[in-house]
Amino acid sequence: MNAGEAGRPARRGEPGEARDRGTEQWAARDVGGWLMIAAGVLVSGITALSDLRHEPFQPTTRLLNYLLSGLAVLFGLLLLRAPGKVPSWLINVLPSVAAIMVCIPTAVDRSPSPLGPLLLTWPVAFAAAVLSKRTAWITLGVVALAFGVLASAARGVDGLVLWVEVIASLAVVCWMVSRLQAQSNRLRAALASLARTDPLTELVNRRGFDEALAREHSRHVRGGPPMALLLIDIDHFKQVNDSWGHQVGDQTLRQLGALLSDGFRPMDVIGRIGGEEFGVLIPDSDPDHALARAQEICDAVRTQTRGWAHPITVSVGVAASLDTQTSPEDLFALADAGLYTAKALGRDRVGTAATQSPR
Ligand code: GH3
Ligand code: MG
Ligand code: MG
Repeated sequence: MNAGEAGRPARRGEPGEARDRGTEQWAARDVGGWLMIAAGVLVSGITALSDLRHEPFQPTTRLLNYLLSGLAVLFGLLLLRAPGKVPSWLINVLPSVAAIMVCIPTAVDRSPSPLGPLLLTWPVAFAAAVLSKRTAWITLGVVALAFGVLASAARGVDGLVLWVEVIASLAVVCWMVSRLQAQSNRLRAALASLARTDPLTELVNRRGFDEALAREHSRHVRGGPPMALLLIDIDHFKQVNDSWGHQVGDQTLRQLGALLSDGFRPMDVIGRIGGEEFGVLIPDSDPDHALARAQEICDAVRTQTRGWAHPITVSVGVAASLDTQTSPEDLFALADAGLYTAKALGRDRVGTAATQSPR
């Protein structure tokens, strides 16, 4: 048997990582869409009310404001309505482009209004909240460059002071929001791991195991290698609890979890899928290999538990999927039927749905 990592925790299933990333990308499109629409509406509204200002916008600036607002709203609608059509790279450059768009009318007007620096907070906060840390700081760099050119052209030395004030504030916003995002990512990862970990054995629980099975099955259907499923049930476990107490029962479950972890490869997924029932998912395993592995583990439990407080044996049900028609549910049902056969034939053995006595 190949030695695995002793006491290996639930990480093997790598639960839902790909899906989480997909969700983040989705959130970036959603938030980005609403921000673009809000910016468009705000800028065009303020442009329409510009006559109330001491220094109203010049006609060219007005036109530019309306044009860029319209573009922002259209792009915002695209992000909301057809997020799948917007590639990831565009989402990453979106805040930088938005920052440049904010600076253009003010540069033309040559008189930065308070709205410019205020609106520049949006792309920086957006990038720091939903994109990577690197993208957030690059966005801040682009904002610093665009606003620097604009402020110095419009106000000379005064503009430099304004630039320092605005960029320093935005750097603090960027740092704080990035930290919040990192913290929430850590919490989410910890929660996802907890939700898929069995606290007693630290193996994956039923949820994590089912997800791993579905993931491995879709790889198999896409032309990947065959896969096998073992269901392992402790024989007469009730007697362990009845005669030695639940604490010894729990300790036995923990020890069996560790024994199974040692007996399989890191790429195999081992889970505690019920009270005294364990599942092992073996990718790239044909039926013969799966049967051999099942027999090995059955023998290993019998011999290695002789020194335990209460020796145990296990029955193992085996199912292997060679064709793409077998669904994960079918595989489970086949392994369960194999386990039933093993129990019916006297326990401490391996069973398959097809073979009456594979031992
Ligand atoms: P069989 O050979 O037919 O599988 O017999 P069994 O006694 O193992 O099966 P049964 O389903 O009758 O009993 C399973 C027992 O597993 C009953 C329950 O007390 C025990 N069990 C389930 N979860 C835990 C747990 O978390 N800790 C402990 N100590 N016992 C548990
Ligand atoms: Mg049992
Ligand atoms: Mg059982």
